[in-house]
Amino acid sequence: MGLAVNLARDNHPEIREAVRTLCAQFDSAYWQQIDEKRTYPEAFVAALTKAGWMSALIPEEFGGSGLSLTEATVIMEEVTRSGGNAGCCHGQMYNMNTLLRHGSAEQKKKYLPQIATGKLRLQAMGVTEPGAGTDTTKIKTTAVKKGDRYVVNGQKVWTSRLQHSELMILLARTAARSEKKTEGMSVFLVDTKSKGLEVRPIRNMVNHETNQVFIDNLEIPAENLIGEEGKGFRYILDGLNAERILIAAECVGDGYWFIDKATAYAKDRVVFDRPIGENQGIQFPIAESYMEIEAANLMRYKAAGLFDQHKPCGAEANMAKHLCAKASWEAANVCLQTHGGFGFAAEYDVERKFRENRLYLVAPISTNLILSYLAEHVLGLPRSF
Ligand SMILES: Cc1cc2nc3c(=O)[nH]c(=O)nc-3n(C[C@H](O)[C@H](O)[C@H](O)COP(=O)(O)OP(=O)(O)OC[C@H]3O[C@@H](n4cnc5c(N)ncnc54)[C@H](O)[C@@H]3O)c2cc1C
Repeated sequence: MGLAVNLARDNHPEIREAVRTLCAQFDSAYWQQIDEKRTYPEAFVAALTKAGWMSALIPEEFGGSGLSLTEATVIMEEVTRSGGNAGCCHGQMYNMNTLLRHGSAEQKKKYLPQIATGKLRLQAMGVTEPGAGTDTTKIKTTAVKKGDRYVVNGQKVWTSRLQHSELMILLARTAARSEKKTEGMSVFLVDTKSKGLEVRPIRNMVNHETNQVFIDNLEIPAENLIGEEGKGFRYILDGLNAERILIAAECVGDGYWFIDKATAYAKDRVVFDRPIGENQGIQFPIAESYMEIEAANLMRYKAAGLFDQHKPCGAEANMAKHLCAKASWEAANVCLQTHGGFGFAAEYDVERKFRENRLYLVAPISTNLILSYLAEHVLGLPRSF
């Protein structure tokens, strides 16, 4: 790739163009209304599904389009770049990898074609628990094998899109915590309409459907175990790398949206008889922020490329998510500041995107934990926990 290539414009132009055209049907008034009413963007997700974007990662033999993760990130980037909120649909992309990479032939045959048509959605993932946030190995939800089923008891928190998904990826303990902290957890594919799941929504800063889940004697058929019992943490980590890379791309889309919006406003808004964009005090933060997004975007492509080649990408996925989340958050601040008071008015969308983007410095993994991963696993510094 030549140095002059502008990644945002030239990488997979045919996907960008098609997703942009679809997103253009869902304008800023649509997203404002959805945000104000705190409802799920059903029409938008249905259109994405009908156009085949929600099944992008499903191999063609199962009815999907067999795209790579890199291409999937382009879809997500275009959603946020268009002014939309990709939190309603990204779950299907990263959860898919757990099933694709670790599911059995029977599971794929049973579920993938139905997900490809949109009959089933695989949008939810239950990992986080009230007593085990970042420290996943402390999860207390247990799955006990009884004959041909597992019986699950426990509690999850922040389980997103559960009410808009027929299937959930669930992490539960199948053996007591031992010396090898990462062993003893298993991943299951759960029918979200099963008995034994009580769901209570959590109202939060953004319009992101997320829930507390109380699990009381939930029965899961044994054939819904993904991969080997006790090895689930490893499978989840694989999925989390995909999640981080997809979210990095969403942040890149946000970042370009903030830069475009700030630039347009700076050219237009006249104060002291001249456009505010003539002042270097306004120009420089926008230019700097643009540069940071371009740089962070390179790490997003590096991480996505490694993932697609099935190469280790933990460090790159973490760095991509961190750099893109930071760069886009900086762009969000610059955009808000450029708009002055109008940045706070809902009709400009800046305050909504500002809130939506802020999430990604915390979830799916917070800044400190990424720094700690790099310090210990890449730089070999002593462990702090
Ligand atoms: C809107 C939303 C949607 C979500 N969706 C999902 C979902 O679908 N499925 C799911 O499983 N989870 C989901 N999550 C959970 C999310 O992944 C967690 O919130 C995130 O991983 C952080 O965990 P925590 O909130 O428990 O923070 P904690 O682990 O309690 O940490 C709190 C703070 O302390 C810091 N910290 C902790 N330990 C250390 C240390 N040793 N050194 C330095 N700093 C430290 C952390 O970085 C963080 O800033 C969602 C969260 C939100 C807000």
